[in-house]
Amino acid sequence: MAEPVRVVFIGAGPGAADLITVRGAQRLAQAQVVLYDALTDPALRELAPQARWVDVGKRGFGHATGQAAINALLVQAALAHDRVVRLKGGDPSVFGRLEEEMLALAAEGIPFEVVPGVSAALAAAADTQRPLTRRGTGRSVSLTTAMTHLGILQATRTADTEVFYMAGRQLGALASKLQQAGWPGDTPVCVVSRAGWPDACTTDHTVASLAEATAPHADRPAVVTVGAGAQPVQSAMARVKTPPLERHQAGDDAPAA
Ligand code: SAH
Repeated sequence: MAEPVRVVFIGAGPGAADLITVRGAQRLAQAQVVLYDALTDPALRELAPQARWVDVGKRGFGHATGQAAINALLVQAALAHDRVVRLKGGDPSVFGRLEEEMLALAAEGIPFEVVPGVSAALAAAADTQRPLTRRGTGRSVSLTTAMTHLGILQATRTADTEVFYMAGRQLGALASKLQQAGWPGDTPVCVVSRAGWPDACTTDHTVASLAEATAPHADRPAVVTVGAGAQPVQSAMARVKTPPLERHQAGDDAPAA
């Protein structure tokens, strides 16, 4: 008989605790130990009040942080307990260092499973009500990190819609890299920070004007959507359903534009 799973990698989703999956919440409720990253919502703790919660996110961990230290802690927890949860922001399989952690467990023969979550790009699409794929104009989506593993900023044009993660601090530089990669200067770009949270912020730009997004998103995790999926869903629909943010700003009895 196969050995029972000892570690569950769970995607917490990008923000509010209710964006975790039902399966993720059920596994959390059974956890004895939860290793979590600083980005995830503290309200998630209510789903596993009995567990010991250990912050292994960069902020919580102090100088000692490093993937190797996290791997070691994970293995240690799994050797001491039957039900360990490794909670990650968004989806564990998207820029989540999942491979390293899986390898560390596998090296010790520790069985694990992965429960998916809502990745930031998808939460941003939902917040802005802009589908990432568009019939006729958007057949492909690329999830891309703007940073190479060596910390070098790089842009690409590999899909009709390209969503860049980890670019928030260098939006001005990203603008020129995008143009070098072949995106025309007037291509629509949408930046969403804290997607999935009640205080999510969305701004619209073009590739050429992307630098102006720096201030409104300073010190907030952000994704940058470029191309087909950055285009607002047009006029006829806007009249039927005003996005919540605009409605809020305009006041309750302002007529729809
Ligand atoms: N596994 C995560 C990504 C982790 S990498 C996921 O699937 O979403 C960290 C990057 O994700 C940040 O630099 C930022 O680009 C993005 N990110 C994470 N949470 C976000 C959020 N709530 N809103 C916008 N971007 C977010």
